[in-house]
Parts: sequence; C-alpha cells; structure tokens
Amino acid sequence: MVSRVIPVDDFDLVIFGGSGDLAKRKILPGLYRRFVAGQMPETARIIGAARSDYSDDDYRQVAREAVEEHVSEVDQEVLSAFLGQIHYLAIDAKGDKGWSELRDLIRFEVINAFYFSVAPSLFGDLAERLHSNKIADKNSRVVVEKPFGRDLETAQALNETLAAHFKERQIYRIDHYLGKETVQNLMAVRFGNVLFEPLWKTHYIDHIQITVAEEIGVEGRGEYYDKSGAMRDMVQNHMMQLLCLIAMEPPSVFGSDAVRDEKLKVIRALQPVSNHEIVRGQYDGGEGLTSYREDVDNPRSHTESFIALKVHCANWRWAGVPFYLRTGKRLKARSSEITVVFKDLAHSIFEGDEARHRNILSIRLQPNEGMDLQVTIKEPGPGGMRLIDVPLDMTFADALGPDNDEIPDAYERLIMDVIRGNQTLFMRGDEVEAAWAWTDPIIEGWQERGDVPKPYDSCSAGPEDAMMLMHRDGRRWRDIKG
Ligand code: NAP
Repeated sequence: MVSRVIPVDDFDLVIFGGSGDLAKRKILPGLYRRFVAGQMPETARIIGAARSDYSDDDYRQVAREAVEEHVSEVDQEVLSAFLGQIHYLAIDAKGDKGWSELRDLIRFEVINAFYFSVAPSLFGDLAERLHSNKIADKNSRVVVEKPFGRDLETAQALNETLAAHFKERQIYRIDHYLGKETVQNLMAVRFGNVLFEPLWKTHYIDHIQITVAEEIGVEGRGEYYDKSGAMRDMVQNHMMQLLCLIAMEPPSVFGSDAVRDEKLKVIRALQPVSNHEIVRGQYDGGEGLTSYREDVDNPRSHTESFIALKVHCANWRWAGVPFYLRTGKRLKARSSEITVVFKDLAHSIFEGDEARHRNILSIRLQPNEGMDLQVTIKEPGPGGMRLIDVPLDMTFADALGPDNDEIPDAYERLIMDVIRGNQTLFMRGDEVEAAWAWTDPIIEGWQERGDVPKPYDSCSAGPEDAMMLMHRDGRRWRDIKG
C-alpha cells in the first residue's frame, strides 16, 4: 500500500538554532525525508539561523552530515538537490546582527514559518525582533519547542510573550508525541470504528495503563534533567497528551479547535493526586552502570528519574476508572505502550478458571508501532471447553506492507502540518497552562514534604512501590518488553 503524498505550498522555513542538536537530529533529517517523498516544492527554502558565522556551503555541510548520520538510506544525488534548497544566515537573537539581512532574504509572498529551536529564554527576543524588524506578519507561523515553561507561572509568561506578537492561530507548540503515527491512530481507532467507542467508558473498562519506559539514563542532559525530573519532562506534556487522546469525548469534527477543546476538558477534569497514589524513583548504578546521581553530578539530588501515578478523571465517562501512568529512565527495555484493560464479563457461562478471561487492547508506540487486542477463544482440540487468550496482532509495518515499513518520524509530520496551517496536533496555550495547573500542586506537595525518591535497580521495572501501587488495587502492570 503506497501512501499518498500531497505537496505543500511554497514556503520559507527559518530554523533559529539551525546548528543545534535538535535541528541536526530531527528537523533537517525530517525535512530531507519529506523532500524524498516529494512533499517539498522545488522553490521552498530552509534557512538555518544561529550566531555562528557559517557560509551557505558550510551550513550545507552541517546539514549533509546530519542527514547522513540520521537517515538510514541516503541517495547522494537527491541529497545534493535537497541541500540546494538550504541557506544560512548568521543572526543573534539578542542583538542586531543579521536581522535586516533576514528581512531582505524572506519572500513575503509565500508561507513563512519560524522554528524556535533555541533555549526558551530566547523565545521572547526572537518574537520581538521578528516583529520590530517587520519580518513576521499576520500570516507567519512560529514553532516552539518543549519545555514550555517549568510551572504555570513561567508557562503563562511564555504565552504572554508570544501573544504580544502573534495570534494563537500562528503559534505551534510542539509535542512530538502527537506526531507519532500510533498516537494519531488512537483517534482513528476510537472514532473510525464502530467496535470501540460504545465500550470506551466506565461500564466496560476496568483501568488504563500508560507506560513510557526508556532504557537509557539521562545521558548528556544531566544538567537540564536534574532541574526538571520525570514529572516535568514526561508527564506534564507527553503522557498528559496521550491521556487526553484516550479519555476525550468525540469531537464534532476532526479540526484543530474541536480536538483541542475536548482535550482541555479532560485536563480540567483530572483530580488532584494524593500522596499515596504517587511513587517517585531514582536509578542506582551497578553492573558497570553509573547511578542517576553520578550522571547528573549531584550526590544529593532528590529529582525523580521515575514516576508512577494513579490518576482519576472526574466525569461521567471515566467515573471509577483509574489511569495508571508510569515513566522512567534506565528501565529494563525501551517500550511505550497504552493498555486498555476491559472488565470481566457481566456473567460467564464457563466455570472455574475458564470464566476468568479479559479483553486487553494494547497500543504500542515503540518499538514495533502497532496494536493488539487480546481475545478469548477455545483452545483447539478435544477434551472439553478450555479457553485461551490470543492476540489479534496488528503491527503496522506488517499490516500496511513494505512501502510503509519506514513510518514517518513525528517531526516530519508536524513540520508539514505547520506549513499546511493545521494546528490539530499542536498544543494550545490554554491546554499547556491547564496541564501545569494540575502538575504544580503535585510537585509542590513533594517539595514541601521533602520527599526523597525511592532507589531502583538499573535495568529493572522501577521501584517495588510502583508495583504495589497496582497490587493493592488487585491489578498489575504489563511487563516492560522491548
Ligand atoms: P542546542 O544544541 O544547545 O542548540 C542551540 C542552538 O541555538 C544552536 O544552534 C546555537 O547556535 C543557537 N543559539 C544560541 N544562542 C543564540 C542566539 N543568541 N541567537 C541565535 N542563535 C542562538 O539546543 P537543542 O538541543 O538543539 O535544543 C533546542 C530547543 O529544542 C531547546 O528549547 C530544547 O529544550 C528543545 N528540545 C530539544 C530536544 C533535543 O533532542 N535536542 C528535544 C526536545 C526539545 P550558535 O551557538 O551558533 O548561536
């Protein structure tokens, strides 16, 4: 099955921070793949911008190396054509350098997008200078990266800074989880099939688990991560977005405000989380591995590299259905999965163990994006009615055929959505603020109590207490499998 590619309109995309890590690992390789797919018009331009004094050719070499490193198969002829559409401008977000040159370079007659791939402390400077130099107009788009604030107050301040120069319809706040195919498939499965939506409620669902497990530790991000922790780095944004897509009411149309209105209602319905429903952890070293505290070079750090929470969404649909969220670093495998565990049958006609079977829908974000639905069938053969659970497996790469085995990276999809002017998969300002308003009291609570995260073994499933969080409810986590 070959996917349809609809070329976007002509554009100039300026990447502030074009020489940075994110540009090299995600943005430039993603744009190359869209170029290969035929989605980028021949006249579209990508303009890298940062303080370093590169020529166009120097920057093309940066882009070449980035693509060669991060794209599995590169055709040199195609790559050269792609690089021909790349330019560079030395510019200082905090000074005068480069701004008049940018104004001369930009084509005002095509779509202009400005990607702020720089530290959030520079967002205000960029927005202000784009405006005062008359580079951005009412049709321009700005793309901003996470972290979007570190609490409600800072998020509000960032929103105000951007709002001083851009309308909400011009601001694209990236949460790359929303660009993942499987995450979008959550909506397709829920709202495109008659099977699931009628069952998607407290009457039929026992509980929902969301796990985002990483095998790696904090790697080179120690300084940033130690000030952030798993709650701010993962739960407030990515996991909250997953929760919203699972829990939201069907929007009336698949449009940006309709979807985001429904997500916002979910966040506002989240209950405060009590202390005994949270487990924080921090990885130990061992077997040649360094500990979290060694990785962040802070022997007294109380920052969590793992968190598990039991969350309640107070509305008619989800009354009494707990959402168990768990994320952590240095766990036994890299695995992100959403699991919907359905209730027992209202009445089973089978006896003993044969009566105890449940349907489980699991949606895998990584690795092997796909879904499986555990259904109960009769074990083949004579000897009575013995029941077994089997998965109806739908690994997307298998189901959709060889042309789909390279599922597009989230960034590719999202950048093209910016050019298309489609905000559905981007967070609106009020959503981000509502998410912080729910997160802040939880963090303040453990800070006031002086809670210390529980140590856990590297390459494990996290602290024992996280198991207990479910065991005491008579439930258990799905195994973390890579
Ligand atoms: P980075 O590697 O430190 O790159 C920062 C970029 O900003 C460089 O190109 C730097 O180039 C430029 N820059 C710094 N000061 C500047 C100034 N005054 N004027 C113009 N350009 C300036 O950072 P990054 O990892 O790419 O992250 C960029 C943003 O994405 C951050 O907000 C980060 O939180 C977010 N993010 C990153 C990742 C990731 O995987 N890296 C993931 C999610 C979100 P010069 O030094 O030449 O100016």
